[in-house]
Amino acid sequence: MDNSVQDYTREELAQKIKPSFRAKQIYSWLYHKYVTSFDDMKNLPQSLKDELKQNYRIDLLKIVKVEDSLDGSRKYLFELDDGNTVEAVLLLMKKEQYHEDGTIKHQAKYTVCISCQVGCKVGCAFCLTAKSGFMRNLTTGEIVEQIRLIKKDNSIDANRRLNIVYMGMGEPLDNLEAVSHSSRVFADPDGMAIAPHRQTISTSGLSSKIVKLGKMDLGVNLAISLHAVDDELREKLMPINKAYNIQSIIDAVKQFPLNQRKRVMFEYLVIKDVNDDLKSAKRLLSLLDGIKAKVNLIYFNPYGGTEFKRPNPKDMIAFQEYLTKRGLLCTIRESKGLDISAACGQLRDNEKDNK
Ligand code: SAH
Ligand code: SF4
Repeated sequence: MDNSVQDYTREELAQKIKPSFRAKQIYSWLYHKYVTSFDDMKNLPQSLKDELKQNYRIDLLKIVKVEDSLDGSRKYLFELDDGNTVEAVLLLMKKEQYHEDGTIKHQAKYTVCISCQVGCKVGCAFCLTAKSGFMRNLTTGEIVEQIRLIKKDNSIDANRRLNIVYMGMGEPLDNLEAVSHSSRVFADPDGMAIAPHRQTISTSGLSSKIVKLGKMDLGVNLAISLHAVDDELREKLMPINKAYNIQSIIDAVKQFPLNQRKRVMFEYLVIKDVNDDLKSAKRLLSLLDGIKAKVNLIYFNPYGGTEFKRPNPKDMIAFQEYLTKRGLLCTIRESKGLDISAACGQLRDNEKDNK
C-alpha cells in the first residue's frame, strides 16, 4: 500500500470516497485536529474507517530528532519508510507579544521550511545536501506531512497563519508534480488553508520548469537561487548553470505570472572573497533591471570540510547598501537557528556523524 490520504486534494478524495462529504470530514481530522490514525476520526462510520485503513496510510514520517535554537526556531529530522531522512525547520519569525494584562498583542509568526527530495541532483558546490547525492523524490503526502506533524508537535492552531518555503533539501522543480500537488493540498480552504501567496518555491534555476510552473498558475511566490552574476562563476558554484545559464533564468522569470503586489525573490548566497564584492553588486543591479525583483542576501553557513567561508558583516552591509541606494529592494536574511546546524542538510549530517 503506497498511497496515503495526504497524497490527495479534497476533490480527489471526494471522488474516491463515498459519500463524498466524508472527504471534508477526513480533511478536518487530518488538517485541523492532526490525528495520526483513522480510528481517531470519530464521526466516520466503522465501515469507512476499515476501508480507509485497508487502502491508505497516514503515518508516513517519524520524528527522529528535534533541535531547539536559542531564537525559538526548531529543526526536525524525519525518517521516511525506507529509512531515508529529511529535514524541515520551524522558524519563529516574530515572537509572541503581550499586553500588560497578559493578553496577546501580536501572535507569533511562523515560517516552515520543508524538503522535497532525499538529497539533490543539482550538486551545488557550497551545499551540504548535494554531498550525499540524490536518493529519491518525496511524494506529495511526505511533503504535506512535514507541515502537519510540525503543526501538531507545536500545537499550532489550525487557523493560525503560517508561511511555507520549499527551501529544505532538494530541488522543487525537479519534483514538480509532487511539489505543485502539495501546494494545492496546503491551500485547500477545508484543510490547512495556507494561501498560495504564503508559499514560496525556491529553485536553483531550471528555466524550462520555471516556465512550466508559471503556466500552472498556482499563485505561489518564486525564489531564484542566483548566487553569482556571471556564468563562469555560477558554473563553478552551480553546475546546473551549464544547462540553464543566467540569461535563460532571467528570460523565464520575465514570463512568470506575478500577483500584483509581489516580487520575485533573488537569493544571493554571499561567500567570502568569492562573490561579496561591489562589482558583483553592480552587475546584479543591471541583471535585474526591468524585473519586479527583491534580493535576499544570505550569509554562507560553513560546515566541516567546506572550502568556503562566511562573509564579513561589513561586506554584506556594503553590498546591501549599494543595491538599496539604487532603488533595488534588498534584505539580509537573518541567520535563524545558527546554533542548531541551520543550513539545510546539516542536521542530517550531524546525525550521521553521531552514528
Ligand atoms: N534547491 C533549491 C531549494 C533548496 S536550497 C534551491 O537551491 O533554491 C535553499 C537555499 O539554501 C538555497 O538558496 C541554497 O543556495 C541555500 N544554501 C545551501 N547551502 C547553504 C549554506 N551552506 N549556507 C547558506 N545557505 C545555503
Ligand atoms: Fe540542490 Fe538547492 Fe542544494 Fe543546490 S542548493 S544542491 S539545488 S538543494
